[in-house]
Amino acid sequence: MRIVFAAGEALPYIKSGGLADVIGSLPKELVKKGHECYVILPKYQDIKFPETLEYVTNFYLWVGWRRCYCGVFKAVYDGVTYFFVDNEQYFRRPGLYGYDDDYERFAFYDFAVLECLSRLNIMPDILSLHDWQTAMIAPLYKERYCYYDFYGNVKITFTIHNIAYQGKCDPFLLNDLFGLDNYLYYNGNVRNDDCMNMMKAAILYSDAITTVSPTYAKEILTDAYGEGLQSILAMRKDDLYGILNGIDYDTNNPETDPNIPYHFNANSVYTEKVKDKLALQAEVGLPQDPDVALIGIVTRLTWQKGLDLILNRMEEILQRKVQLLILGAGDKKYEEPLEEIAGFGNPKISLQLKYDFGLSCRIYAGCDMFLMPSLFEPCGLSQMMSLRYGTIPIVRETGGLKDSVQPFNEFDGTGTGFSFANYNAHEMMDTIDYALHIYYDDKDQWNGLIYRAMTEKLDWDRSADEYLRVFGSLLG
Ligand code: ADP
Repeated sequence: MRIVFAAGEALPYIKSGGLADVIGSLPKELVKKGHECYVILPKYQDIKFPETLEYVTNFYLWVGWRRCYCGVFKAVYDGVTYFFVDNEQYFRRPGLYGYDDDYERFAFYDFAVLECLSRLNIMPDILSLHDWQTAMIAPLYKERYCYYDFYGNVKITFTIHNIAYQGKCDPFLLNDLFGLDNYLYYNGNVRNDDCMNMMKAAILYSDAITTVSPTYAKEILTDAYGEGLQSILAMRKDDLYGILNGIDYDTNNPETDPNIPYHFNANSVYTEKVKDKLALQAEVGLPQDPDVALIGIVTRLTWQKGLDLILNRMEEILQRKVQLLILGAGDKKYEEPLEEIAGFGNPKISLQLKYDFGLSCRIYAGCDMFLMPSLFEPCGLSQMMSLRYGTIPIVRETGGLKDSVQPFNEFDGTGTGFSFANYNAHEMMDTIDYALHIYYDDKDQWNGLIYRAMTEKLDWDRSADEYLRVFGSLLG
């Protein structure tokens, strides 16, 4: 199969969230399984390894009435060919998203992807789209490009990484940016409520829709999680698949990770992990104590991640025999109260308000527990990283957290972490207390948890097979 991926970010070149991990891993895994994969990215200013990019070609394309230059660069990494579409007006700026003209920038990108398919002669069997930035490629293909020579019979899949970001915009943009006729708004194909909705369009126009965990696939069909798209998803229910993301077991490996000072595996973890813990405590200014339960949090500071529950119970958590280490950046709404708590010089808490990849690895390696009580979580990678590094997750049973963390059962000695069902601060606190009880009072059970967590297989091999099954079903 030839598969082209369109997404706003991909490792190792550019990352703002979990999407980059997925696009950095899935194509690579598919290549290992004998398929031909391409990834098309915007050529952001902050793209890593710029010296490895090789110029390929350039052409002009239309974004509505705008005639735009499009340069194309190329790099090959891990057997996957990456193309970078270049337009300095749109992408020569710091960061990835968050500009007033994002809809125009990604309309350019959408046209660039479609143009690249024919101009670079990479017409795929499957065009795999990810999140709102690429959503309009589906209607553009089905309403226009499929009628052009060479664009024959491409099957389109659309993957929802987070339904909270839908690309809702002024209906004026349908024609102004995409050159599509306004009747597509009035007949409801690209409209939800009273605005244009790119994600809705992709859900209607794609041949299959996937999302990043089986539980999230069920949740988004409900009023509580569907963010207004539940009824349109219900229409496409038979074409909706939940496939749990994996993590890259080559790069996220406690035996070889260059970001951690002491390496270990599922057998040596019991003597080596504590060395990472002591080094981590020293690094973040917590008193060095091998015995105290060290709870880590690595997260974007946003409402999705359960920070309201954590703030609500912060005083109580800090009354326990614990240390709390928080690495995160994001909303002031959460940064400020956290700063206030940490600012009193409480020796039990260390607050690191930044984005720091190396430190995140040392947290996964050096902590005893990892707290992730999300309100919703399409998949979540952090809990999988914790499992891989023998740090026991405490999670709320939602989305991918439910699918990847098996609840601990002390009676038959099974499970890989601790979980609670409702978005409720008491339930979270009870679950933390239960985890602390096992940690302090039953070392054998705790060691069993660590072993099962570290030997759980959450890599891309299984997920890639599931994607292939969906792709294969479209091709018949
Ligand atoms: P989301 O994509 O919703 O942010 P995920 O759990 O799927 O959540 O992925 C988050 C990824 O970003 C994880 O790999 C996590 O380690 C990383 N991450 C989040 N915040 C930070 C931070 N402040 N510093 C370093 N890495 C972070």
